[in-house]
Amino acid sequence: MNAGVQRSASQKIPKIAIVGSGPAGLYLAEKLLKLVEPVELDVIERLPTPYGLIRSGVAPDHWTTKNVVRKLEQAFQNPATRFIGNVELGRDVSLAQLRDFYDVVVLATGTPLDRPLGLPGDGLPGVTGAARFCSWYNAHPDFTELDIDLPKVETAVVIGNGNVALDAARMLVRTPEELAATDAPRPVREVLARTNVRKVVIAGRRGAAHVKFSPAELREFSELAQAVPVVDPAELPPEGTEPKRTMEILGRLAAIEPDPAKPARIEFLFRARPAAVLGDGHVSGVRFVRTRLEGDRAVDTDEVLEVPAQLVVTCIGYQGPTLEQLEVDGGRFRNDDGLIAEGLYAAGWAARGPTGTIATNKSEAYRSADRIAAELAPQGRPGRAALLPLLKAAGVDLVDFDAWRRIDEAEVAAAEHPAPREKFTTTEELLSAAKS
Ligand SMILES: Cc1cc2nc3c(=O)[nH]c(=O)nc-3n(C[C@H](O)[C@H](O)[C@H](O)COP(=O)(O)OP(=O)(O)OC[C@H]3O[C@@H](n4cnc5c(N)ncnc54)[C@H](O)[C@@H]3O)c2cc1C
Repeated sequence: MNAGVQRSASQKIPKIAIVGSGPAGLYLAEKLLKLVEPVELDVIERLPTPYGLIRSGVAPDHWTTKNVVRKLEQAFQNPATRFIGNVELGRDVSLAQLRDFYDVVVLATGTPLDRPLGLPGDGLPGVTGAARFCSWYNAHPDFTELDIDLPKVETAVVIGNGNVALDAARMLVRTPEELAATDAPRPVREVLARTNVRKVVIAGRRGAAHVKFSPAELREFSELAQAVPVVDPAELPPEGTEPKRTMEILGRLAAIEPDPAKPARIEFLFRARPAAVLGDGHVSGVRFVRTRLEGDRAVDTDEVLEVPAQLVVTCIGYQGPTLEQLEVDGGRFRNDDGLIAEGLYAAGWAARGPTGTIATNKSEAYRSADRIAAELAPQGRPGRAALLPLLKAAGVDLVDFDAWRRIDEAEVAAAEHPAPREKFTTTEELLSAAKS
């Protein structure tokens, strides 16, 4: 006997739709499959590919992190689950329709949009948000073009002090040899191989003690083939400051000497609040106001610093789009511990906002699954028996899990060692591989 919610065949089989196949959606699916049996569980995804930011966010040079999909794909090996890919909630089916068809709808749609910088000049050519930049180098089919002349960039400013800022900075200084061992698609590798970035400034409003970098990501900056990190030792907090490991690694980076064999510098600029993006027709720099720290607060000083740059990448957080009548609050759907309305839930970044790692989603999704299973009241709704004909009538090109496997196999087969896969970059290519 399953310890969770058991129903005999004569009872109404619960129909659950999870929208979004990122880590939140799939950890939730995994746990719900253990708690609710029998069940029909459909994972609806707007792209032809599953796994959300694992495929399109996690940096291409960290592709081994993406092996977590081996665990997540187990949800699709259960015959109760269907992957319904290339179907967008809000375009191909409405939320009202889904709620009509399913007993439970869970929005695990992430927060895919860049939070705007909100400063004069932030719309200038040469300024991009991390969502766009990282999606481009990760072959997200909505971002096949970057619209930035990267080979002309000598200095870049990356605004933000989290891991995404580190990812963006690293990718800008990777050598062609380093790029060859990533899962960045060929067109991206070709552009990045032609870049000549000599300086990347990673800027944060607060001090070194406030960074959100994880130690492992920071440590990599001592091992880049052509770039040295530059940390001003005067900015380091006293020994023993938490988080100790991160501070220790920052200290080690501060001790690194210039290396003539490494022509690029990655400068960590602390206590610098961006005040304006400069430029006439194209970004030419960023004006910062230097801050001083009062406890954890950064307070403006009178000192102004202008950093010339031909590229600005903002890594200051994400937000989600609105969906029909739903209220958005701080970038996520307004919810009470996951519950939006009866039978409607949010999970992952769509529920709590854009913070935390892949693993953070696991414990939260497991907790949400417990709640959903406990509140489930099956009504004999049709589930996929209503959804699939609707999509078929609308001419939607559905991608199921076998079709995704064909895409996956084709990408792996096309890879040149040491790259793990050669990603398709457009929806057309993905759909064509799905059918091949
Ligand atoms: C650039 C970047 C790099 C990161 N790197 C790491 C890392 O190295 N290690 C780590 O542990 N964490 C990393 N993270 C964090 C991690 O990716 C997130 O914690 C996690 O992906 C959030 O999961 P989610 O399922 O809530 O959202 P997502 O992963 O964003 O998944 C949401 C899914 O919903 C789909 N969707 C959206 N709207 C619709 C719609 N209307 N209809 C149907 N489907 C829809 C999307 O296409 C997507 O597949 C990174 C995040 C970013 C942004």
